[in-house]
Amino acid sequence: MDVAARNFAAFSSADELAELLSSVARAPTLILGGGSNILLTKNYDGWVLKNNIKGIELIKENEHHLYVRAGAGENWHQFVSYSIQRNWAGVENLSLIPGNVGASPMQNIGAYGVEVKEVFDELDAFHLKDKKVYRLSVNDCKFGYRDSIFKNKYKGQFVILNVTFRLNKIPRFNTSYGAIEEELENMGVKNLNIKVISQAVINIRSSKLPDPAKIGNAGSYFKNPQISKSKFLSLKGKFPELPGFENADGKVKLAAGWMVEQCGWKGFRKGDAGCHGKQALVLVNYGNASGREIEELAEKILQSVKQKFGIQLEREVNIV
Ligand SMILES: Cc1cc2nc3c(=O)[nH]c(=O)nc-3n(C[C@H](O)[C@H](O)[C@H](O)COP(=O)(O)OP(=O)(O)OC[C@H]3O[C@@H](n4cnc5c(N)ncnc54)[C@H](O)[C@@H]3O)c2cc1C
Repeated sequence: MDVAARNFAAFSSADELAELLSSVARAPTLILGGGSNILLTKNYDGWVLKNNIKGIELIKENEHHLYVRAGAGENWHQFVSYSIQRNWAGVENLSLIPGNVGASPMQNIGAYGVEVKEVFDELDAFHLKDKKVYRLSVNDCKFGYRDSIFKNKYKGQFVILNVTFRLNKIPRFNTSYGAIEEELENMGVKNLNIKVISQAVINIRSSKLPDPAKIGNAGSYFKNPQISKSKFLSLKGKFPELPGFENADGKVKLAAGWMVEQCGWKGFRKGDAGCHGKQALVLVNYGNASGREIEELAEKILQSVKQKFGIQLEREVNIV
């Protein structure tokens, strides 16, 4: 079901953004990238400002690394393809993630064993109140699992203008996660390189994730919860098949999708709101469900997981 914004404008540079903000005055603003991680539950009574800052530039290089700056409005997968075509390594496992470059540090996008923080160098961001551009380093951004300072302390304060990535001249292949190795075998790959890894990721993602252009969805609706090892072992006593992946910090990451599935939601549909049949973590809109209906379904799922496993899931999607 459609929702509307009171006002909409797009900007293609920091100067255009500054000019726009002076006319917007004190109205609420929502910065829009590709819109692939936002659930709109009502009309937006303010300004939606679409970031269209473009450009990809190799700004420096040394023996091992290439420093590549990309405008926030560049499509993420196009940036990945651009890098792969030039044999610049580091982002191949992040192929086909929807959305734009500017949102990639917001939740430290990640897939198939790689997170954007591993190739992140710095970013430029416009502070909405100070009206100044600041340069933030990897330490400033405080990246965590699907998390950064932009989702916490600096929430709603900055507009990311561009991101500089530190890509690798010599690739470090990461094929151990998910079904990459199996897919490479199916593809008959003999010589590993970043192109074939990217293609394997694309094949896997296309086979199990709904295309948002065809079926409305925002990817994983919930984050994978992280719990202490002792809590994990006690849960495992009750649910012997419970999958868990130990992090470097000793915590154990649980598969939220598995828990949602165990609660019987996989493939569930009420009206046009549903839980995807191939990936229980993805809530889908089959056509005319409202944002509120999707959120109501999410709430029911949260409650059932809490009841069965005693685990409070957290939303990954940005609800507006
Ligand atoms: C099918 C599918 C699969 C997905 N798979 C993955 C995955 O594997 N891994 C993963 O991490 N994510 C995944 N996602 C989520 C999504 O792709 C990412 O969160 C992506 O980074 C969102 O980019 P976007 O440009 O669409 O952001 P939007 O949805 O437009 O915005 C997301 C948030 O960031 C803010 N924002 C956007 N741009 C800027 C900016 N320039 N400055 C300041 N704030 C900004 C918005 O206000 C909003 O709060 C998936 C989504 C879908 C639909």
